[in-house]
Amino acid sequence: MSWSRQLGRALCALASGALFVVGGAFAQTPTPYRGPLFDSHLHYNEEACALGAACPYPVADVLAAMQRSGVRAIVANSRPNDGTKSLASAVEATRAAGVTVVPFIRLYRNRADYSGWFADETIHQMVLKELAAGTAAGPYRGIGEFHLYESRNANGPVAARLMKLAQARDLVVLAHVDDDAIDLLMAHAPQARLIWAHTGIGGAPVARVRELLKRHPRLMGELSYRPGLTHSGGGLSAEWKALLSEQPERFLIGSDTWVNPRWGSYDLLMAEARAWLGDLPPEAARRIAWGNAAALFGVATPP
Ligand SMILES: [Zn+2]
Repeated sequence: MSWSRQLGRALCALASGALFVVGGAFAQTPTPYRGPLFDSHLHYNEEACALGAACPYPVADVLAAMQRSGVRAIVANSRPNDGTKSLASAVEATRAAGVTVVPFIRLYRNRADYSGWFADETIHQMVLKELAAGTAAGPYRGIGEFHLYESRNANGPVAARLMKLAQARDLVVLAHVDDDAIDLLMAHAPQARLIWAHTGIGGAPVARVRELLKRHPRLMGELSYRPGLTHSGGGLSAEWKALLSEQPERFLIGSDTWVNPRWGSYDLLMAEARAWLGDLPPEAARRIAWGNAAALFGVATPP
């Protein structure tokens, strides 16, 4: 074959997405995972739809996006908690869409709460009040997502109190923190079930992630925004493929719709997850996509 014909074929293959370059070698595009998805990190914040104000993403629209993407269950946590309550209260619509809502209590009434919640007793009181009230979709199952921009704030009095509360009431904690804060949070409540949002958005080395998973048997990692997870072709990087294949029971997927553009690209985000999940053995993909969260929250697998 002539050089130009070879080049033409390679370009066609690249254009069709059938081949991509990994470390200088050609690899086959994996077949995307096709089973149900459990979106374990979802926000329906007031920018997406505020009570009595602008609502660019009504409940019907976000449920339609989930339906298109094959998302059959969500962890809902929203600033303020009204967003989660509006999803939880849409009992008929969520049932019709085939989406189970697992409500979490967000610690933020507003943006100012991001930076001081860990030492703010009024946040602890709000959590107790929300827990007592529950939602139309059932009791709250977790706390978070919360952020700690400095690891040492994991030792704030309210952070410690909420970790102990989670352990005592069997609530799952969703924490956007660094690797050092994982150790500090778990020290307050070693039996608490903690989901590490993004599994380290700062890119903690995979060796460090392995170390934390080993030290804290009830720790799980959610994988949105995780640096280094995928390569430019959309499949998994070698080190993440190895880790997820070895320990598929420890990971979850999420959309993290923290700003409206994430809602605008919800279908694409879920398609990207399906693409890299397709790089795993089918049983590992199914666990990360659906089975781990379904087991954690007791959600029945759709037929
Ligand atoms: Zn988030």
